[in-house]
Amino acid sequence: MYRTDQEIARASKMHPIAQIAEKLGVLEGDLRPYGKYVAKLPLKLIDEEKIKGKKLILVTAITPTKAGEGKTTASIGLAEGLNKIGVKTVVVIREPSLGPVFGMKGGAAGGGYAQVLPMESINLHFTGDFAAVEKAHNLLAALLDNHIHNQKNTLNIDPRKIVWKRVMDMNERALRDLVIGLGGPAQGVPRESGFDITAASEVMAALCLSKDLMDLKEKLGNIIVGFTYQDEPVRANQLKAQGAMAALLKHTIMPNLVQTIEGNPAIIHGGPFANIAQGSNSIIATKMGLSLADYVVTEAGFASDLGGEKFLNLKCQYGNLKPDVAVVVATIRALKSHAGIPFDELKNPDPEAVKTGLPNLEKHIENMKHFMLVPVVAINRFATDSEEELQIVKDFCQSQGAKVALCDAWEKGGEGAIDLAHEVKKAAESGLSNFTPLYDFQWGIEQKIESIARKIYGAGDVEYSVKAKQQIRLFGKIGLDKLPVCIAKTQYSLSDDPKLINKPSGFTIKIREFDIAAGAGFIVPIAGTIMRMPGLPSKPAAENIDIDADGNITGLF
Ligand code: ADP
Ligand code: MG
Repeated sequence: MYRTDQEIARASKMHPIAQIAEKLGVLEGDLRPYGKYVAKLPLKLIDEEKIKGKKLILVTAITPTKAGEGKTTASIGLAEGLNKIGVKTVVVIREPSLGPVFGMKGGAAGGGYAQVLPMESINLHFTGDFAAVEKAHNLLAALLDNHIHNQKNTLNIDPRKIVWKRVMDMNERALRDLVIGLGGPAQGVPRESGFDITAASEVMAALCLSKDLMDLKEKLGNIIVGFTYQDEPVRANQLKAQGAMAALLKHTIMPNLVQTIEGNPAIIHGGPFANIAQGSNSIIATKMGLSLADYVVTEAGFASDLGGEKFLNLKCQYGNLKPDVAVVVATIRALKSHAGIPFDELKNPDPEAVKTGLPNLEKHIENMKHFMLVPVVAINRFATDSEEELQIVKDFCQSQGAKVALCDAWEKGGEGAIDLAHEVKKAAESGLSNFTPLYDFQWGIEQKIESIARKIYGAGDVEYSVKAKQQIRLFGKIGLDKLPVCIAKTQYSLSDDPKLINKPSGFTIKIREFDIAAGAGFIVPIAGTIMRMPGLPSKPAAENIDIDADGNITGLF
């Protein structure tokens, strides 16, 4: 019987955080400690000169099953493996959101013997970064409604055209659509509004795309909260909100240093989801990692069509980052799931189903080639995988000209990722990658969306609703058309229909409407029926989470 992630984490010996910092050459006096095992890192440790020549490894994946495919686990495992073979490596990942922790997916601190510690604290509140993002976001909402109520709406904001909602870090479908300000003249001006999850907040996005605190403050000031009766955008700086918002984020902007089970450094910072936001940790954290270590292994959420695409087009172009290798995590389970095998039967050996699911992997390998990156496939091995099934995937990767290695880090930690580490090191040193984004920010909005839809999703066409077309015209008028796009789309399919599994083709991507993130620096085309506030499943993970009188938390996975 395997031990749970939490049992393994609790049995691991943690080192004081100053010892972990020392491995990165960071002096104890420079740390901003949060207890014994967590510390924030000051931004002065980022050094653009030192970043040159360092290796950046992107970890992406095939289209996931509902449990996730083990990208975080493989990222942490790969970093342990690289450290084992003598490459000074730091893994840089996102902070977990309470939505998935209490919902279906559970924690996001890795799994098995490839975890970051202290896992309970990382999964629950951590250093309060999500709370601070939420507060900064909601402060702007409060100032906005107060302006209309108390300042006679001198900015002439049309309450029907306000686009700034409130956020909460919880799966809360009941708050998606609301009417606020009811109760008479003393309670504000009634209008329609709602909540998104904090991981979808533009403040989170801005935090993760900023260079430093002053850059973040400027981005916050540029947030568009709504429009006037004449369709002129109204920005946060017109409400004088950006100073107080940035003040709330003074500590949040610093990345968090923790440790892996094997005592290697890990940096965790920011937490935008990859289906409804840009899906990777902050630029600051990535640059911090590249400044302090020789290799950075970083995860982008969901598959190559979501977090992967956004990492490469959006984050890398804004941050001037050049990845050297793309690791594509695949599991036998997910491949069988793409052959239509139900979730509960994925543990049964079924070589034919694996073969049927391979076109999904083929597409994600191809996607990395569209960005001129050398792909290395990591097969995240589950105990239920048969030798025959594993061999089918290895042979297939070779036929695609992709390197492949098993990743056994969940069961064996860094030892189980040594082959993968060697493959990744070889690929990184080969210089064969020549990272090229798919589009230029200067392209038109439709052109940007279409290049992603056709090349990365494999779509035949893109269709826009009447509302979306009107918004595109408006964006052209107010100068938002030169922003990159961050498409909100289901993670369960390459298309915008969660039911179209494996490698669909010829489908039409339907853009329903756009959200605006002018402060963070992108616009969000919303494809299909995806929502920016998730709901809890019929059996929420929260029902199994508990704490005893000694403060021991159980039920996190
Ligand atoms: P992702 O980052 O792709 O969403 P995670 O790394 O968070 O995926 O893993 C999802 C879940 O699957 C976690 O609970 C993790 O413990 C579990 N898991 C990952 N790899 C394995 C494996 N090889 N065997 C068993 N469970 C695994
Ligand atoms: Mg993950």
